[in-house]
Amino acid sequence: MQILLVEDDRPLAASLQKALVKSGYAINHVETGKAALHTLQVEKPDILVLDIGLPDTDGISILKALRKTDKELPVLLLTARDSVEDKVQGLDSGADDYLAKPFEVTELLARLRVLERRLGTVKTSAIKIGGVNLDTVDHVVTLEGKDLELSRKEYMLLKSLMENAGRVQTRSTLENRLYSWGEEVASNALEVHIHHLRKKLGNEFIKTIRGVGYKVSAQ
Ligand code: CA
Repeated sequence: MQILLVEDDRPLAASLQKALVKSGYAINHVETGKAALHTLQVEKPDILVLDIGLPDTDGISILKALRKTDKELPVLLLTARDSVEDKVQGLDSGADDYLAKPFEVTELLARLRVLERRLGTVKTSAIKIGGVNLDTVDHVVTLEGKDLELSRKEYMLLKSLMENAGRVQTRSTLENRLYSWGEEVASNALEVHIHHLRKKLGNEFIKTIRGVGYKVSAQ
């Protein structure tokens, strides 16, 4: 999952980035409304986490502008103000969810999992396909009941494929979900991760769709 975080409070943004990366998200961060609108045009994230109070404009205006062209992108609003009016205005403007500061990171992670489930084909936090179980809360993957040791990128990649079981995921979609801006990425990095996953899961679980990407079949 790739998340765009729009937040001008740098210490907060840094701590959220750290927690989200640790939880297996690729996260890109901007601090202004202008940068947010630009990014939404050039590289659409899977989920937008949007602060309402920004230095150049407010999050509600960004949200309204976004909803003119995109009704689907899940948006979670953050605000320092926990007023009913703000909440209602945010939801009326097309936000999917709302979190008032200060909040616990665990709550943000839980809300993100709900939005993610809405995006994918999977409706629960534990995904089971064939003998493979992937728990998106505890980040544990088992094969036939045995724990698998996966690197963070391997886990992110497998999660993205399993959440979208039955759908082909293109190489660029997978790469965007795996890497944040500024991360060094070798051109064959994706193939290397797939190779390692196949060593651990067997060759059949992840299918190559030649020239397009990869897929895990639904049950
Ligand atoms: Ca702010």
